[in-house]
Amino acid sequence: MPNVSSSGCARIVASLSGIGGDDTRLQPGEADAPTYARRVSGTARIVVVEDDASVAQLVTLYLRNAGYIVEHAATGQRARALFDEVKPALVVLDLGLPDADGIDLFNELRAQADTPVIALTARAEDTQTVAGLDAGMDDYLTKPFNPRELVSRVRAILRRAAGMPGGGRVLRVGNLSVDPARHEVLVGERAVALRAKEFELLEAFCRQPGMVLTRDRLLEDVWGFAYPGETRTVDVHVKQLRDKLAGADAKIETVWGVGYKLVAPSL
Ligand code: CA
Repeated sequence: MPNVSSSGCARIVASLSGIGGDDTRLQPGEADAPTYARRVSGTARIVVVEDDASVAQLVTLYLRNAGYIVEHAATGQRARALFDEVKPALVVLDLGLPDADGIDLFNELRAQADTPVIALTARAEDTQTVAGLDAGMDDYLTKPFNPRELVSRVRAILRRAAGMPGGGRVLRVGNLSVDPARHEVLVGERAVALRAKEFELLEAFCRQPGMVLTRDRLLEDVWGFAYPGETRTVDVHVKQLRDKLAGADAKIETVWGVGYKLVAPSL
């Protein structure tokens, strides 16, 4: 499992690019490609405030790979500007910035909006500060941390936020609607009961309709791991989903040798 630290990032980013055969996974050089933002438009925006370029690059890569739109600020000043401009759904905030005290910056942002914040801390004393804070940070991670852990915490917080009154967003593809906050699926007017992993898998498809999602990526997004040879788990769940979603005009199509995509007549 890769960890984020100041020293190891370049190596980890390099090794990520070597993961075999998964051609939809972002390569490091593509992390900033403008086309990617267009492909995932409509998903949550996240501002990453981090002055360490290698940590910022790795965190950005993982979050973009998870389908989020990511903007990066290397300073407190840039963070304030981006916060106003982007109105993010969540902020990842390194507390050790060159031009701002992280806690002060957090309080400033919180005074403007209730946007969830995950703090990144480098030192034990920061961790104690954050843990002892009543300031209302939603979560924190101490460096070095596993970027996958960050992604899963971001997801959890955004799900919680979506469950708040007025915060929910129902995903609609064709006559299929998926309500992540209520955990409900409708085909037209018909409610469909799904198991937890089937629901998460369908949610992953509905967040990126029309896009090919590889089995490895789905394994990682839904099950939290990617081991070669385990991809049959995905196939089994896709089959179950297809059976349960009979009558939906959105279909999960097989893309031979690659993975699956959700298509609807309107796409
Ligand atoms: Ca820092």
